[in-house]
Amino acid sequence: EIFAPKLAEVNYIDGSTDQRWKSVDFPWTKKLEANNKKVFGNHSFRPNQREVINATMSGYDVFVLMPTGGGKSLTYQLPSLICPGVTLVVSPLVSLIQDQIMYLLQANIPAAYLSANLEWVEQQEILRELMSGVCKYKLLYVTPEKIARSDVLLRNLESLHSRGSLARIVIDEAHCVSQWGHDFRPDYQGLGILKQKFPNTPVLALTATATASVKEDVVQALGLINCIVFRQSFNRPNLWYSILPKTKKCLDDIDKFIKENHFDECGIIYCLSRMDCEKVAEKLQECGHKASFYHGNMDSSQRAYVQRQWSKDEINIICATVAFGMGINKPDVRFVIHHSLPKSIEGYHQECGRAGRDGLRSSCVLYYNYSDYIRVKHMLMQGVIEQNPLASGTRRNSLANTERVLETNLENLLRMVSYCENDTDCRRLLQLIHFGEKFNPENCQKTCDNCSKILCLIEKDVTDIAKQLVELVRITGQRYSSSHILEVYRGSLSQMVKKYRHENLSFHGAGKHLAKGEASRILRHLVIDDILMEDVKKSDLYGSVSSVLKINESKAQALSSGQLTIKLRFPTLGKASKMQKPETTPAKGSLVPGIVNPPQSDIPAQAQPEVDLNL
Ligand code: ADP
Ligand code: MG
Ligand code: ZN
Repeated sequence: EIFAPKLAEVNYIDGSTDQRWKSVDFPWTKKLEANNKKVFGNHSFRPNQREVINATMSGYDVFVLMPTGGGKSLTYQLPSLICPGVTLVVSPLVSLIQDQIMYLLQANIPAAYLSANLEWVEQQEILRELMSGVCKYKLLYVTPEKIARSDVLLRNLESLHSRGSLARIVIDEAHCVSQWGHDFRPDYQGLGILKQKFPNTPVLALTATATASVKEDVVQALGLINCIVFRQSFNRPNLWYSILPKTKKCLDDIDKFIKENHFDECGIIYCLSRMDCEKVAEKLQECGHKASFYHGNMDSSQRAYVQRQWSKDEINIICATVAFGMGINKPDVRFVIHHSLPKSIEGYHQECGRAGRDGLRSSCVLYYNYSDYIRVKHMLMQGVIEQNPLASGTRRNSLANTERVLETNLENLLRMVSYCENDTDCRRLLQLIHFGEKFNPENCQKTCDNCSKILCLIEKDVTDIAKQLVELVRITGQRYSSSHILEVYRGSLSQMVKKYRHENLSFHGAGKHLAKGEASRILRHLVIDDILMEDVKKSDLYGSVSSVLKINESKAQALSSGQLTIKLRFPTLGKASKMQKPETTPAKGSLVPGIVNPPQSDIPAQAQPEVDLNL
């Protein structure tokens, strides 16, 4: 579900249903098609490209939601050639801007950029060009910091505008405006000044990531007027989604999965830490795969080398942090494997989206266990996690901002956990909810693990058990990990539990009748529902972390007063359900046969999960 607060209603018009924008009778249609072929080398338009171009060239403010790789750049680069004047493009990262400029110059399109990393002389030259009678640039890229901090730039834009030479304002990666998005950039919030200063210049906002609340944030912050929204489904029918339990033999599982389903095919394995990338790559090489790794600790020439090898198919598999992927356009990526928990559903969707660009069937497999949640949470809190390059640009955040960003990150992470724990609902449905999109699970056609299961589930009211677990956390002093609480609850007499002398506690053994998996699932649900919280701490000098459960009193109150009831669905067959087979024998490339995300996950047996934090 979407938890962001509802903002005031904003005016926008759905462009996707308006036939007018599909027309090929606009005065510019011929030029458009000729330039699309001649300059950009495209044979046709991709979905919504023509529509967006027609709407922005008609002078409207336009908001575009298009998946990564959908072809958003063309929707302003092509108009920039046809319209007189300069198109201003705000983009969050200098490296993305440099890529674009290189591409444009190769296509003989005059373009320049302004950012703090340019020499003063170079900047002066570009600014002078803007003031000249006929500016030679068709496109001027700037970082949001420039708009926020350079009065000179604003004056230059005013001058351009007064001469009728400011053609269009483009805000790329527009979700950065919103603190609900996963890449919040404070300087994007100041971009509203552009619409204030140039109310009649059409604004084009582009993003691949927008929940309903992000969209409203963006439209409001930018001050878009009667904006036309184009969005297309974020569903990727050719991607097959599944979540598998992550165990100690995860690397063997991955090796086997690839050999059985995608041998000698191309894929990405996303890992959490740099060390994980190297470890996974090494193991896969030993198993006979052409694998290599890619992460932020490598210098740019090393990274470029790996990327080149990958493009030329000299390497099949890249084990990478999320740093890998921006601007990757390989069409035949047949699988994306997540070796550990992604940080948000949006991020997960985007990473999976790098598979199957050619429309052919591809697999997205995520190996999940609950202790990864604790590990990722700790890394987020320490700020040691490798970010998507979009998010890691230099930020001058205030402390309050930093805290808010962390809070949002932790919420996003918890929603990701909830996605993984869900073993019932269609994965597509769960993902698309985040983009404000409705999806009928029947259309999944059993292409996700949950839809392809044949489990009989019954709903049980577990409110009483939940209450007991919360009480147990309370009377043991909110000092123990979830696995310890579970052992006590189920009456374990292990040395560890004995040591703490919990035998006399009122709830010791109260959950004897429950399967271990059932009790732990209820406990995890309490964390996802924010009734209990995992308090993650570094436990020793070697970087291991431990986590203890704490009570969120206001929520717990609702539970104990009976305001809140908790119902979960359980397989009727208990343990046997673990071995349920999919209905038909899966063909090559399908989900792993016979393994159905078991509701029981494997919280480590020791009281304090030790987590390797070596980076
Ligand atoms: P986005 O910004 O939406 O992620 P890009 O604008 O970077 O996507 O485009 C992704 C790729 O698709 C680029 O390599 C681009 O050249 C290509 N592309 C865009 N439009 C078309 C088209 N109409 N036909 C063929 N290729 C296209
Ligand atoms: Mg783009
Ligand atoms: Zn499904």
